[in-house]
Amino acid sequence: MVPFVDLKVQYLSIKEEIDTAVLGVLESTQFVLGKEVAAFEELFTAYTQTSHVMGVNTGTSALHLSLLAAGIGRGDEVITTPFTFIATVSAIDYTGATPVFVDIDPASFTIDPAKIEAAITPRTKAILPVHLYGQPADMDPIMEIAKRHGLVVIEDAAQAHGAEYKGRRVGSIGDLGCFSFYPGKNLGAYGEGGAVTTNNPEFARTVKMLRDWGAERKYYHDLKGFNYRLEGIQGAVLKVKMKYIEGWTEARRAVAARYDEALAGTSIRTPTALPDRRHVYHVYAIRDAQRDTLQTFLHDHGVSTGIHYPIPVHLQRAFAELGHKEGDFPHSEAAAREVLSIPMYPELPEDQQDLVIAALKAWPLQ
Ligand SMILES: *Cc1c(COP(=O)(O)O)cnc(C)c1O
Repeated sequence: MVPFVDLKVQYLSIKEEIDTAVLGVLESTQFVLGKEVAAFEELFTAYTQTSHVMGVNTGTSALHLSLLAAGIGRGDEVITTPFTFIATVSAIDYTGATPVFVDIDPASFTIDPAKIEAAITPRTKAILPVHLYGQPADMDPIMEIAKRHGLVVIEDAAQAHGAEYKGRRVGSIGDLGCFSFYPGKNLGAYGEGGAVTTNNPEFARTVKMLRDWGAERKYYHDLKGFNYRLEGIQGAVLKVKMKYIEGWTEARRAVAARYDEALAGTSIRTPTALPDRRHVYHVYAIRDAQRDTLQTFLHDHGVSTGIHYPIPVHLQRAFAELGHKEGDFPHSEAAAREVLSIPMYPELPEDQQDLVIAALKAWPLQ
C-alpha cells in the first residue's frame, strides 16, 4: 500500500539531531517556552520574513490569539471561507464573534475576493483567508478591500509554511499570520505546536501576554489570558527541522510537478497552481465527479488517499446555529464532493509515485 504520509521516514533521516535536541531539553528542564523555543522563534521570524514570532501550543490557539489581539469579540463578524478545516471557524467562535462565509474561487480553493465586499457589514472586523492545501489566497485584492473598509487581515497559514505570493512569504502579508506545527503539517512538531507571526509590535506584545496568562511579569496579570505556551521539546524539534524545511518543500513541489506532468491529458483534474505563487503542496488534491468510487478504486490498487474536507463548515452540524443550507456556497460544496488527496510527502519514493500515477491512469472504470 502506498501510504498517504510517512512521518517515520523523516524522523529516521534526522534521528541523531532530534534525539540530541530532545535530550538537551530534558537536561535543561526548560520544558515550557525557554531558550529552544526562543531560538526556533528567531529562525521562524527570518523564514516568514516577519519581525515577530510567538510560539503557541496549537495552530488553533494561534488563530484564537490573533483574533483576540486584533480586538475581535462578541458582536463582531469575521469573514472566512467554509471550505477549510473546522479550526479556522472554531477559533472565530471562541472569541464570541460570528463567522461570515464567502465562497471559494474553484480554481485555487481559496476565498474569492470578488465576493468579499457583499459580505461586509458594519459589524465586520476582519478577513481570515486560508492558504488551503499550501497555495496562498489572492492577497492583493484582500488587502485592498481590508484597507478600504478598515479591517484586519489574519492569514490562516496552517498548511502553507514557506508559501509565497508575489515573492512574499505567507504570514508576512496580512496583519497577523497563523501557523500549525501539528505533526502532519509541512513543518511538524513531535506533538502539538503553532505560531503567530506579525510585523506589528503591539499585536506581538498582546499575543505574547495572552499565550502566558496575560502576564508580562510572572503573577502580574494585565489581561485575561490562556495557557497556550509552546513546549520546550517542540521548540527543540522545530529548531532542528528549520535546517531542512526548504529542502522538504522543494521535494514536495517536485512530487507535485511529477504528478502534474504524468496526469496531464488524463481524465484526472490536477490542482491549479496560479501564477505569482509558490504552492507548497501540503495537500495534492485532484478532482473527480466520481470521487467516492475513485477513492475505492485507488484503495483497491494499493493507493491510500484522504479527503480534505468532505463537509464544508457551513453544513457541519456543529455550526447549524449559523442557519446555512445546501446551495449557500456552491463552489465549496462541489469541492467537498469532488476533491481527493493523493499521497504527498517530501520523502515519497519515485517508485511509489509511479504506482499512484499508474493507478490514476487506469481510471476511469469502464
Ligand atoms: C491544522 C489546521 C489548523 C489548526 O491547527 P492545529 O495545530 O491542529 O490546532 C487551522 N487551520 C487549518 C487550515 C489547518 O489545516
